[in-house]
Amino acid sequence: MLDLTSTMKIAKSYLFDRDLTRKLGRERIKKYQDKALKKVVECAFKTKFYREKYREKGLNPSDIKGLEDIDKLPIVTRDDFVKASPNDLLPETINVKKIFQASTSGSTGQPLVVWNDTYTALRCLQGFAEELSEHGVNWRKDKITIIGDFSPGGPENAYLTNTFFSGLNLFFNTKNFQTLDVKEDALSLMQKISRFKPDFIGGYPPMLKGLAFLKKNGYGETVKPKCIATSGTLLDKKTRDFIEEAFNVKLFDVYSSTEAGTVAFQCREGRYHVHSELVHVELLGRDGEPVDYGERGSVVVTRLYGEATPVLRYIGMNDTAKNVEVDCVCGRETPLISEIEGRRCDPVFTLDGRILSPFYFTSIICSYVKKGLNVERFQIVQNSLDEMEILVAVESNQWETYKKHFEGIEKDFKYKLGEHVEIKIKQVKKLENNVPVVLSKVEGLK
Ligand SMILES: [Zn+2]
Repeated sequence: MLDLTSTMKIAKSYLFDRDLTRKLGRERIKKYQDKALKKVVECAFKTKFYREKYREKGLNPSDIKGLEDIDKLPIVTRDDFVKASPNDLLPETINVKKIFQASTSGSTGQPLVVWNDTYTALRCLQGFAEELSEHGVNWRKDKITIIGDFSPGGPENAYLTNTFFSGLNLFFNTKNFQTLDVKEDALSLMQKISRFKPDFIGGYPPMLKGLAFLKKNGYGETVKPKCIATSGTLLDKKTRDFIEEAFNVKLFDVYSSTEAGTVAFQCREGRYHVHSELVHVELLGRDGEPVDYGERGSVVVTRLYGEATPVLRYIGMNDTAKNVEVDCVCGRETPLISEIEGRRCDPVFTLDGRILSPFYFTSIICSYVKKGLNVERFQIVQNSLDEMEILVAVESNQWETYKKHFEGIEKDFKYKLGEHVEIKIKQVKKLENNVPVVLSKVEGLK
């Protein structure tokens, strides 16, 4: 999977680009971004999806000379991606051996499959390395536990294959890495983490909240990381406080998504810096114009690298954030954002006392989408320990067609929750943006 060209590329970018945002001033970062943007636009013109979109506007690759031209490009929504055929989202010149599909963990309640490539995965890891070093974690020496979706097609799967890992030996000591599957229940994860005794734990907020709950109840005595990081879904203040208190450690949050990779991260001052060497972020108001400092806008991301599905002016993460004007003392001269709001998820409790990742359930629904179930959006609500409701927005005339799929979903939910738990699947006309995709009303973690 990891070919020589990708390794050389990452080696080059590791040596020259690492910590770029701290070494370079604003002007030089912008120059770097201008160049990267032009490349991505050229790549986008090689996909049917973007070419048609841009031609409609009369755009040519040469119209985009740098970031000052970015507003000429139309905004791309999640719906646009969902409706496009996956092949139309791929550059026609791509070497298919280098790419793989990644399905989003369903954290927006609107399933989506995008293409990724090895180089993209490596760049994300590079961003991760910078985040760790900012927080005093030595990724060559310290023991690192990552809890992610490592199932085939899952967002973190690309990091798992042996060939990929062996290629990474240049950059990471892979023996010091423990990768755990988010679909395991919190207790069995805690047991594995206890044996490994990591210096750092990274994972989705709801799962770390589950582990924090166990820690508070006396489990995982040997689990004493010096640093914890969350990413993948929104981290609210309550969850942050809960995890920090349970592990008696400072937590930093990474703002990311499957489509756009890592977007921003908290420095040691706690401010969210945009990863300017990886992405360009716009915060746009309802009128489509950039918001002023102190104002809240929709997050629109352009990913400045990658050879598979280009992500250009993408609003589909459905998040909002505030535009911040402060010079941060950490020394990075990159844009700052704050108070990110959007994709939220709760952990799920079971009758027999297990704590499960919400992504176990979102991925069940996503697996039926792959089998042909056409869901516009869904929400899972755990009303009580013995009742779970799945709200799905599908065309009303399709309800009967999908009956088999719904029966399958019910069976799969029951398999994990227990036969006696009632699973109610309800059709709704519409689900609003920004409703938590998994909402648990069960008391215990709140
Ligand atoms: Zn900072």
